[in-house]
Amino acid sequence: MSTIVDLRSDTVTRPPAGMRRVMAEAEVGDDVFGDDPTVNRLQSQAADLFGLEAGLFFPSGTQSNLAALMAHCGRGDEVLLGQEAHTYVHEAGGAAVLGSIHMHTLANRADGTLDLDEVAAAIKPDDPHLARTRLLTLENTIGGRVLSRTYLEQAVGLARQHGLAAHLDGARIFNAAAALRTDVKTLCAGFDSVSVCLSKGLGAPVGTLLLGSAGFIASAVRIRKMLGGGMRQVGVLAAAGLYALEHNVGRLHLDHASAARLAEGLSALGLPAECHTNMVFVRLTGDPQALAAHLGRHGILVLPERRMRLVTHLDVDAAGVERAVAAFGTYR
Ligand SMILES: *Cc1c(COP(=O)(O)O)cnc(C)c1O
Repeated sequence: MSTIVDLRSDTVTRPPAGMRRVMAEAEVGDDVFGDDPTVNRLQSQAADLFGLEAGLFFPSGTQSNLAALMAHCGRGDEVLLGQEAHTYVHEAGGAAVLGSIHMHTLANRADGTLDLDEVAAAIKPDDPHLARTRLLTLENTIGGRVLSRTYLEQAVGLARQHGLAAHLDGARIFNAAAALRTDVKTLCAGFDSVSVCLSKGLGAPVGTLLLGSAGFIASAVRIRKMLGGGMRQVGVLAAAGLYALEHNVGRLHLDHASAARLAEGLSALGLPAECHTNMVFVRLTGDPQALAAHLGRHGILVLPERRMRLVTHLDVDAAGVERAVAAFGTYR
């Protein structure tokens, strides 16, 4: 059997030799004291890249989003977000449990956006019966789909007009920027805070950056400590993040091309496949477990879901895509 083609997620990448080398050689210090030069370099470099004042390194995107929501919202305050949002669905309800934040969800449309008239209607007046609406959170990409600059400008403008803060879960914002052929600073303009994963398509083993104003990041430092995210000689991980920003941003279009080729191959087999950035979605009629088992015997790893998501990344090359298409083709 040749190598495994792992299409379950873009989180499965393993740090390559060059990344491991910079990790081994990283200068470190105690980051809880602010002493780690590699962490400090990553945080300030990322802040510059996003056009925001300051950055903060987190062990995960879940903790970064939670800290952001807690920095923006007090106890009983409300965030507006999509019902498909990672923060709502896949973060174990942390904003409610740990932040005492009320989540008002709105339907995501087919393109991933929220209807801004519905957002406006969900903003509560000052009335003791109602939660205080403080924050609008968007996600880009969402299920691989890219929110356009025009839409984001309108959404941020609406938040501003109503005195809400705006947070972007930009776990895969570099994929959105690659798809739109723009830079992340342009794409994130107007947001008060942005959370960016280094451990998805960028290929770092660990790490998420939260960016925002100096005051916002100062609050986030305290909350991160409270949540158990204060780390010590963590320059060994920040070095991987710096390597990822330098080497793995410019190649994301290759993952998008791989996903497009995968979708094309599956469609040619009569399997209707949708493709957005580095994700392909196939709607299955048969048993997803049986298909996943068949693919597994051919070295292709997938998650057995009826709307099956296949994700391309650093460790999936063109030959791997062809092997995946061929394995789907032999399933009966
Ligand atoms: C992966 C992801 C996160 C954070 O996930 P962690 O696994 O906690 O790092 C947040 N938002 C989105 C959209 C994601 O895809």
